[in-house]
Amino acid sequence: MIDEAALLAGIPQQLLIGGRWVDSASGSTFDVTDPSTGAVIARVADGAVADGVRALDAAAGAQDAWAATPPRQRAETLRRAFELVQQHADDLALLMTLEMGKPLAESRAEVAYGGEFLRWFSEEAVRVHGRYGTNPEGTGRMTVAQRPVGPCFFITPWNFPLAMATRKIAPALAAGCTVVVKPAGLTPLTTLFFARLLGEAGLPDGVLNVVTTRASGDVSDAILADPRLRKLSFTGSTEVGVGLLKKAADNVLRTSMELGGNAPFLVFADADLDKAVDGAMLAKFRNIGEACTAANRFLVQASVADEFAARITERVRALRVGRGTEDGVTIGPLIEAKAVEKVQGLVEDAVAAGAALLAGGHAADGPGTFFEPTVLTGIRPDMRIFAEEIFGPVVAITTFDDEAEAVALANATPFGLVSYAFTRDAARGRRLIETLETGMLGLNVGVVSNAAAPFGGVKHSGLGREGGFEGIHEYLETTYVLTPDPFADV
Ligand code: NAD
Repeated sequence: MIDEAALLAGIPQQLLIGGRWVDSASGSTFDVTDPSTGAVIARVADGAVADGVRALDAAAGAQDAWAATPPRQRAETLRRAFELVQQHADDLALLMTLEMGKPLAESRAEVAYGGEFLRWFSEEAVRVHGRYGTNPEGTGRMTVAQRPVGPCFFITPWNFPLAMATRKIAPALAAGCTVVVKPAGLTPLTTLFFARLLGEAGLPDGVLNVVTTRASGDVSDAILADPRLRKLSFTGSTEVGVGLLKKAADNVLRTSMELGGNAPFLVFADADLDKAVDGAMLAKFRNIGEACTAANRFLVQASVADEFAARITERVRALRVGRGTEDGVTIGPLIEAKAVEKVQGLVEDAVAAGAALLAGGHAADGPGTFFEPTVLTGIRPDMRIFAEEIFGPVVAITTFDDEAEAVALANATPFGLVSYAFTRDAARGRRLIETLETGMLGLNVGVVSNAAAPFGGVKHSGLGREGGFEGIHEYLETTYVLTPDPFADV
């Protein structure tokens, strides 16, 4: 058992700028709370605009030397960081549970997932290739090379405090870019701890800088407007992402945007219902439903809808709500009171419009911000819960009659991050790959994420991909050179 107070006492609470832990320019701090108790667990530096600019000074100052560092050396730093994350897996997991609320087993799974990006991109760092060839006219030689984009600014969300940071930081460092990262104000501690581990892994000063702040808009506006910045990568809501894209446009920044989702989960009558229910439990309740990949709309063929609803309701009733540190807890608190109000509002709106409540439906007793795992049937496309990202432990079931209607319902959203489909018909499965408007598809599986996957969405779910072979290219620019045919004068 790790002592919570001792762990928290050892976590950095200042800004990391140019390799030094420093207070904010204003000297102020903000509180970090445990959502399962409401207790303040840390006070971290509240970075000011001047701190953001100083962090970018440091990143810009370190850029040339880091880009010139041999890829093997960059790779080995990432590999050491991977190993340090493994060594500190229990500490990192507990820290995430304390600041974000997810059950410890899920925090451990995130340490494994988040850590993998360090290993994956340590391997990719030495595999960045260009090409050489003859131009179509045969009169010259074309060289195409890759180089780092330059200093990057990352803004990360609270729901996966480690993985959303490593999924950006690892490929950027592998490619030779330096970074300023602004973690979510609700969960800054994991990033601060991880930044310390990167320092222990030998990352040179200034290559990674961390600015925690409550003034996200002001700090990021100053960084985004600075001509030294070359790239913005953001994970968070579509609403905030759209505002950031507009600002990035003024500075013609490269961008990667991992935005909101509204994942459809299709269950066809020919599906293996046991597997569909298992997949549904994972796709819905992992991370307390607070995942961009969470199944948001269950679309179930009418002939199996009652059976599916009955089986999932039985499973939902067996979930245990509580503090994520307690044994056997499967559903932790939502991140804050505002989130509980939002989920409650969506459920009430659906029930008022005619949905049937089969389980849950209410906020659970505090002091933490808990919400009961919930099942609703009779959801129609005109209800708010069909259109909005729930971000909570609520199964919302809509029925369909045939594949064409299922696909039309699935695509009836501006979002397109991930979709899930359960069917035993292989031809149908192949059709869905082409008809669903989605960046990712889980075909008979309820979780798609891993470090080798090109993670990302289409439509309002974002731009670019994180992870996979594609991930490092988000941090590389292409340089093309034409030279004369070297044999022409002979
Ligand atoms: P959010 O948009 O409220 O916040 C995300 C980050 O942006 C935080 O660090 C926040 O402090 C910062 N921020 C907020 N306003 C800002 C502003 N005006 N300028 C600069 N920064 C600002 O999102 P959230 O509530 O932290 O996260 C949940 C959202 O993230 C959901 O919509 C979810 O789908 C999405 N998400 C997407 C992915 C993905 O990979 N597509 C992954 C995880 C979460």
